[in-house]
Amino acid sequence: MIDLHAHSNQSDGKDSPSELVRRAKLSGVSVLAITDHDTTDGWEEAITAARAQGIGLVPGIEVSTRARIGLRSISVHILAYLPNPDHPGLTAELAKTRNSRIGRAKEMVERLAADYPISWQDVEDQLKPGATVGRPALADALAAKGIVPNRSAAFESILHKSSPYYVSDYSIETELAIKLIREAGGVSVMAHPLIDFPAGKSELDLPLKHFEQLIAAGLNGFEVDHRSVPDFAKDWLRELALKHNLIVTGSSDYHGDGAKENQLGENSTDPAQLQRILDQASGFEAFL
Ligand code: AMP
Ligand code: FE
Ligand code: FE
Ligand code: ZN
Repeated sequence: MIDLHAHSNQSDGKDSPSELVRRAKLSGVSVLAITDHDTTDGWEEAITAARAQGIGLVPGIEVSTRARIGLRSISVHILAYLPNPDHPGLTAELAKTRNSRIGRAKEMVERLAADYPISWQDVEDQLKPGATVGRPALADALAAKGIVPNRSAAFESILHKSSPYYVSDYSIETELAIKLIREAGGVSVMAHPLIDFPAGKSELDLPLKHFEQLIAAGLNGFEVDHRSVPDFAKDWLRELALKHNLIVTGSSDYHGDGAKENQLGENSTDPAQLQRILDQASGFEAFL
């Protein structure tokens, strides 16, 4: 089983990188990709653990980006596999995103603090120092204070995008991120395409031009088998991938036990597709 999308506590996952690798092995995963949001800090520990546990490890990053579709600005997550973690342009952009995530999270806490007993310290108590900050840390702080029952409840209420407490973060433009990942020798795969696509739509409503623009910018693949990709869009994405000779992956997007429903190995990537990633990457070596 090849699972190419999972988070550790270097971003918003619950497990340390070694714990994540241990759990992957227990779940029957033979090759795991660690893909924390906007950071490569978990790679070293994950590789050491993979060596000890005897499973394969593909270092990656889930890069937060932003794209325009008409007048709307949407959040797009791009998985970067095997980029050079020391590429100056890429590291500068990731640092900028992580920093903006701190300011944005503080702003959300300030808004929340007007109505709930919550402080920035409560959020820091939920985070490993240096980890990429996101709404999950706020959700954990709210749950620890008894303001919400758990992470998911927070996401469905006061942390929801439509909530008055919600603030969006700065992210690099999607096309620029794709180009930067390529420059750093990495392979770019769009994470959970169409995750925010409004319900009740059909194939005819899908933003083909948006996808074609990203493919023209150098996008290398789509994560089609992911629980948050709308079912009606899966064949459409597979056909688009076939037409443009792109990679197709399947992954769990695991964030830790009880963090989300996603379980390690619940989706898998075909070995031939992993091979294409390895062949197209030149920024870093996978441990296999
Ligand atoms: P942010 O990037 O800070 O806006 O937060 C989004 C992150 O929260 C994503 O990486 C998701 O994995 C995570 N997330 C989204 N929805 C949920 C949920 N219902 N429960 C737990 N985590 C979630
Ligand atoms: Fe996440
Ligand atoms: Fe994501
Ligand atoms: Zn993810």
